[in-house]
Amino acid sequence: MNIRIPIHTSFCFLIFFFSVSLLHGQTGPNLGTTSRLMNQAVQAMEREEFQTANELFRQILDSSVPIPPEMPYYFAKTLFELEQYSNSANFLQKYLDLNGFKGEHYQEAKKLQTQLEVPLSEIKACNFCDRMGYRLKTCGTCNGSKEVQQDCSLCRLAGVVGCSRCAGKGVVTKKNVFNIVEYYDCERCNATGRLVCPRCEGSKVEFGDCKTCDGDGEITSDQLCDHRESGDLTHFQNIRTSFKTLVLHSHP
Ligand SMILES: [Zn+2]
Ligand SMILES: [Zn+2]
Ligand SMILES: [Zn+2]
Ligand SMILES: [Zn+2]
Repeated sequence: MNIRIPIHTSFCFLIFFFSVSLLHGQTGPNLGTTSRLMNQAVQAMEREEFQTANELFRQILDSSVPIPPEMPYYFAKTLFELEQYSNSANFLQKYLDLNGFKGEHYQEAKKLQTQLEVPLSEIKACNFCDRMGYRLKTCGTCNGSKEVQQDCSLCRLAGVVGCSRCAGKGVVTKKNVFNIVEYYDCERCNATGRLVCPRCEGSKVEFGDCKTCDGDGEITSDQLCDHRESGDLTHFQNIRTSFKTLVLHSHP
């Protein structure tokens, strides 16, 4: 016993030491990569190559390393230029929440916030796009009818359900005046214990909310909406940016 404990302890220490050095080995180069990507993205913005900047920022977001504190502002500005207003507003808010008025781009951020007001209100007022500003399209599963024929959810493709009066037994019991239990055929189900499914009437299928579009009849697309019914779509964006929880350095 006296021997085993020290061996165990030093083994633990070894594992600890090993994992610490692993951690260093991983985060060191990644932080360097982040600042390199960040510089490239800002340079792309200066050249007004916002799609390139978008892809570079995306690479930073996809890595799990903490992102630089000014990055949400730059990304918000890029998304604004790409007309992804809702995403832009999300990242801008994140920037202001994290940095407050101490942020290097506080003034620019407030200005961008004002610039976003009109496009955001257009998205809100438009019936042809989702709340992110992407054009809605007719659902291909239900062709816009919102409902589709699907398996009956009550009888699960049996076409029949158990009789509720006799609990599926086909017989009902009654106590007579002598307190003796008597059995009768169930009248509701003709003693079969089963009833034709009241939802599908035996057809085993029912009409219900389309599961593809959740009964909306429409699904969102990758195309930014121009808020006009005629549907001359402005830009096709093959990559959608999703707003996710950001890992950020706290501002110094
Ligand atoms: Zn549908
Ligand atoms: Zn019955
Ligand atoms: Zn049914
Ligand atoms: Zn719209």
